[in-house]
Amino acid sequence: MKRSSWRHYKHFCKHESINWVSRKTKKYIIGKKMNTRKLKERLAAVVVEKRPHPEGSILSDYFCPKCGCDETRSTGNMAGYPELWVQNRCMRCGFLVAEADNSPTYYALEYPEYNYELH
Ligand SMILES: [Zn+2]
Repeated sequence: MKRSSWRHYKHFCKHESINWVSRKTKKYIIGKKMNTRKLKERLAAVVVEKRPHPEGSILSDYFCPKCGCDETRSTGNMAGYPELWVQNRCMRCGFLVAEADNSPTYYALEYPEYNYELH
């Protein structure tokens, strides 16, 4: 992370929701939107290493397959212990980037054949 964005980032952490931060702060956190050609290249370059259950896959890169954004926000565990249900959504467009539902974390990037949809 760039040094200059740290102050904005800390501000963001305090409020936890993107709705609380100013547009300027949001821009500092997320940066410019990736263009379509660059995004396609990046998607094509992703290497997925599948591991046997219960280990989750390892990806060579992690980002939102819809807009190329690197930043996600986690819902935290939405089920009660010992259940586990966590979703990670893109900070820019809200796309479901990763989900764990009493399972290892699944990444949308693992499923190009489903148009990167997890459901
Ligand atoms: Zn996105």
